[in-house]
Amino acid sequence: GMVSMNARGAGSSRRRSGLPTRRLFKLKDSSVLAISGGDLTKWKGDAVVNAANEWMLGGGGVDGAIHRAAGRDLLKACYDVEPNSEDIRCPTGEARITPGFRLPAKFVIHTVGPVYENKEVSAPLLRSAIKNSLLLCKENGVKSVAFPAISCGVYGYPAGEAAEIAIDTMLEFSEGIDLIEFVLFGKDTYNPFMKKASEKLAVV
Ligand code: ADP
Repeated sequence: GMVSMNARGAGSSRRRSGLPTRRLFKLKDSSVLAISGGDLTKWKGDAVVNAANEWMLGGGGVDGAIHRAAGRDLLKACYDVEPNSEDIRCPTGEARITPGFRLPAKFVIHTVGPVYENKEVSAPLLRSAIKNSLLLCKENGVKSVAFPAISCGVYGYPAGEAAEIAIDTMLEFSEGIDLIEFVLFGKDTYNPFMKKASEKLAVV
C-alpha cells in the first residue's frame, strides 16, 4: 500500500491540541505528504526528524522532547557521532541518523536548520537540511518519516516561507518514500503549512 498502516498521526495529542484533522496530499509517484497536528514523539513510523543543534547533545523545543521520550541512550548515541575539531557533530544543513530507542519510531534523523537571517541566506540551508534528511531515509530503507517545522521555533524562520521550501524540497526528493508527514505542534505552524500544501499539491 502507499501509506503503511503503522504510520499514523498522534491521536490523543491531536485532540488535546484542538487542531483539525490530518490531511493527505500527493507528492510524486506514489509518495504521500500528510499534515497533522500533534506531538512528534508519539508518532509511529520508521523515522522522526529532529530539529537538533550542531552539537547534538540536546536542547529545548522538539529536541528536548525527543530526548526525554527516547531516553538517555539517545544522548549516548549522539555523543558517539564523530565531532569535527570544533565539537560540531552536525553542521547546519547536514543530517545524522541514530536509533529511536524508546520512541515509537525506529530511527531519529537529526538535522540542523538555519537560524533565520533572511530568505537569500537561509533558504538554501533549510533546503539542504531537508534534502539530506530525505537522502538518509533512502540510504536506511525508511519508508515513512515525520518532520517537525524545522527552524520555525527558537531559530525564528517565518512558517510560511519555511513551508514553501520544505514542500518544494520534498517534491524533489521524495522518490522511494511512501509517506512524509509534518507533525505540527500549534496553529502558528499548522495553518501556514496546511495553506502552502493546499496551494501547491493535489489532495489524495
Ligand atoms: P528550531 O531550533 O529548529 O527552531 P524548535 O524545537 O525550537 O526548533 O522548534 C521547531 C518547531 O517544533 C516549532 O514549531 C515548535 O513548536 C515545534 N515543536 C516543539 N515541540 C514539539 C513536539 N513535541 N512535536 C512536534 N513539534 C514540536
